[in-house]
Amino acid sequence: MLTKWGQPKFRAQQLIDWLYGKRTFAVGSMTNLPQALRTKLESELKWDLPETVSRLDSADGASKLLLKSERGLIESVILRYEGRTSLCVSSQVGCRLACSFCQTGRLGFVRHLTTAEILAQFAIAEQIVQPEGRRISHVVFMGMGEPLDNYDHVVAAVNRLTGKDAFGLSVRNVTVSTSGLAPQIRSLARDVQAALAISLHGARDDLRTELMPINRRYPLAELKSALLDYQQMTGDKITIEYILIKDKNCGIREAKELVKFLHGLRAKVNLIPFNAHPGLPYQRPDDQTIRDFQLYLAERSIPAPVRYSKGLEVSAACGQLAAKNLETLSAAPKRQDVLNRGFTQA
Ligand code: SAH
Ligand code: SF4
Repeated sequence: MLTKWGQPKFRAQQLIDWLYGKRTFAVGSMTNLPQALRTKLESELKWDLPETVSRLDSADGASKLLLKSERGLIESVILRYEGRTSLCVSSQVGCRLACSFCQTGRLGFVRHLTTAEILAQFAIAEQIVQPEGRRISHVVFMGMGEPLDNYDHVVAAVNRLTGKDAFGLSVRNVTVSTSGLAPQIRSLARDVQAALAISLHGARDDLRTELMPINRRYPLAELKSALLDYQQMTGDKITIEYILIKDKNCGIREAKELVKFLHGLRAKVNLIPFNAHPGLPYQRPDDQTIRDFQLYLAERSIPAPVRYSKGLEVSAACGQLAAKNLETLSAAPKRQDVLNRGFTQA
């Protein structure tokens, strides 16, 4: 395009260096481009990033962002750690998979995000953290939505985040988290290089179906077979996310079932105490139950660190997104979408 405008070839490389290398998205700051070219770029291309409508910072280093693109509202969360900065991105507004422990699931499905809207979350977060001397080093698809239900847009976004000729994040630092859409897990092995996390939360079909209706469509045996195929194709370890919910899924019986499910998989397990929220029917177990569950796994050589979600106080923790935005997101929950897609039999 720049050559069509009569610009020398190296200008394209300069532009790429600004966007992907320096992660600068304001044409006005691209100081080595001639003023006339900057003006033309600004007037002929669309540079608008979504507007940040609100930002809530928590004491533990999380910032919850509410962004407004021309198509609607989007939520993401910046997570600051020592030595790394993570961005939790949304892939959809709402989610049609209706997991019983998840606020986003209760919202129902509103819409898919486009690739540009997913990448815009990265661009905005980068602009926020750069003045703090940080760069976004990790991206996790653990915000609103089921990434593999918006497959093409998510694949394109992941490839742009990890591409050597694009943002160039390490493929180990971009994690796609899924509730277990088996066919798409297999496709993912072919279409992207990234880390895979599975939200398991139960290793017995009746229990998992109660928590995650998608399990009816892709029961544990099918999920495991997809994971084995994925591992064979990629050689990568998988992360298993396991929420601990009081009196539901964290007794010794469930620990045993988890060990059995993990057999033959090269996986690491993260235990996440359930984040309670008014309106959700569950509670967090006591510390002793968490320790006993963890110990059962440890004694069978399965290390399973307990991860506490950041950002609880600003409703930015896992599964908390969209809690308060039902009206602002301006669409009624569309539960029937779940049924239409045959994900549950309700
Ligand atoms: N749809 C994808 C990614 C978004 S959910 C998935 O399900 O994996 C991101 C993570 O938050 C998932 O592991 C999900 O199980 C978890 N989560 C949802 N609600 C939660 C809650 N109330 N407490 C703790 N984790 C929760
Ligand atoms: Fe959707 Fe994931 Fe929440 Fe389930 S846990 S409702 S898949 S966002």
